[in-house]
Amino acid sequence: MVDTFYSNSLFCKTGFFPQCERLDSQNIKCCKFGGSFPVLRGSEAPVCEICGNQLELLLQVYVPALPDTILSLFPESKRENLYTIFYCTDCMESNQNLVSFEYTPDDFDELVFVRPKADSKVESSEFSMFEELLTYDDTSNSFHEAFSSCNMDGYEFETHMRQLRDSMPNGAKTFLGGMPRYEQGEQIPEGECVLLANIEDDCSFSMMWGDAGSAQLWMKLIDEQPKFILIWESG
Ligand SMILES: [Zn+2]
Repeated sequence: MVDTFYSNSLFCKTGFFPQCERLDSQNIKCCKFGGSFPVLRGSEAPVCEICGNQLELLLQVYVPALPDTILSLFPESKRENLYTIFYCTDCMESNQNLVSFEYTPDDFDELVFVRPKADSKVESSEFSMFEELLTYDDTSNSFHEAFSSCNMDGYEFETHMRQLRDSMPNGAKTFLGGMPRYEQGEQIPEGECVLLANIEDDCSFSMMWGDAGSAQLWMKLIDEQPKFILIWESG
């Protein structure tokens, strides 16, 4: 019964689990979490507009290094670019609309790396490859509607979901694309957005401040310009 439910492709989708090396990479042409980040020579590290502290790199995205499915979410004119996406780990106030920078290949020679702040909380890790995995929707509004209309046994369903999640490689909870996993019900930014990543503490992503819940990183295109939006939900 549960398998029949998930044979409906509306409720499952391939995600890309990053296999990571824990190191503070200073490589422009990679995707990574945390650690040192590139800025244009002569530029300062970005600071939080609310608390004034230095922002931390959440994600560096070198678009050509993304799996094709995720790369194709970017406008064609942006597919050789590098993006750095920052957030404040001191106050969570400013974090919905993330500070980000876009660099084209013409900028790459002018980029220099800046060290993260001393008390940084995001562990730095470089993505070495992606593993495809099926991700399942068991949290969205349309899931709840479909589930309640099919008289399925809740206990059987939960047991099955637990098994599915336990079978994810290395307990993957952080993946690019795939289905959003909401902790507190569906929350999608206004306007047309695509899901870039689900982020939660696992073997790829680690934020050293206890149980921070989970987050979805969305991308909205405004006149073909990517804008990044993060929605944290505490666990
Ligand atoms: Zn702040």
